[in-house]
Amino acid sequence: MNTQPTANIINIEQSPVKRFASKAKTLPRIALSHAELRQLLSMQLQSTLDIKAILEMFFKTTQQLISYDSLAYKHEAHAINTELAVSKQHSVTYNLNYQGEYLGDIIFTRNSVFLEEELGDFESIIASLIFPLRNALLYSAALKNALQDALTGVGNRVAMQQTLQRDIDTAQRHKQALSVLMIDIDYFKRINDTYGHSTGDTVLTQVAKMIENQLRATDALFRYGGEEFLAVLPNTCQQHALLVAERLRHDLETLVIHDGQHAISVTVSIGCATLRSDDSLQTILQRSDVALYAAKNNGRNQVQVAL
Ligand code: GH3
Ligand code: MG
Ligand code: MG
Repeated sequence: MNTQPTANIINIEQSPVKRFASKAKTLPRIALSHAELRQLLSMQLQSTLDIKAILEMFFKTTQQLISYDSLAYKHEAHAINTELAVSKQHSVTYNLNYQGEYLGDIIFTRNSVFLEEELGDFESIIASLIFPLRNALLYSAALKNALQDALTGVGNRVAMQQTLQRDIDTAQRHKQALSVLMIDIDYFKRINDTYGHSTGDTVLTQVAKMIENQLRATDALFRYGGEEFLAVLPNTCQQHALLVAERLRHDLETLVIHDGQHAISVTVSIGCATLRSDDSLQTILQRSDVALYAAKNNGRNQVQVAL
């Protein structure tokens, strides 16, 4: 794509209100004036905290103010990469900032070159996006934090309850398979006692990362307790869940975790339970826990299936 010009910095404090210079001559006959459209846009954007909805409203309304074909919004740290409509040859990119806080990049494209005088129009419309976007980003970060385990970054117990309940409902409604793996690190207390709590934390983080990397995108991993994780595997029958569990057990056994001068190995015990028609969230968790207990009693570093 021909990027022209590369990146403009939009800093809301330095962005004076601009008049719409370029589009005035070419605007099709529309019922609302520019001022009314801008007011409508600003009201619309404040009506939701959903980033996609904000961008869609912005896209739809601003196309009536400025001639462009596609809009993309990217924010790597928030894992957002949204494209509205197919991008065209010429683009103009703005880095969005509010008081030094990065709010993402917005890219407008069209088939013809953007004119210098139009850039002011873009700056002006982007100004209406800054606060709604910032609020939506803060809201999504707060939601994420409320559902995330602070140490390992995987889902916490609240997230686990929500996801597992939803997945159980879906599986029972559509008569699909669902399995869970309760994974507990063996003799973890020894790691804390031998190397200290901070090394214990590193081990927990590395183990979580390793499990997450091994799971499919549709699976989900949660920290269930101190050194205990729950993997939820939708659309997975007992036979496949056992294969996944065995692979995880084996890969964790061969993983060497480095922390300072220490090279640490761990093993895990896994209880595997597959959803039954009469299962609830509590009963499938209980069954996986009983299986985990059996794996511990049977010598650890192994997988046991729930009855
Ligand atoms: P088992 O094989 O029977 O599972 O033995 P274990 O030592 O792993 O189990 P136990 O329940 O006796 O000990 C779990 C330990 O996990 C005790 C606790 O201090 C530690 N732990 C729990 N949460 C954290 C944490 O966030 N960080 C660290 N470093 N340790 C934790
Ligand atoms: Mg343990
Ligand atoms: Mg435990």
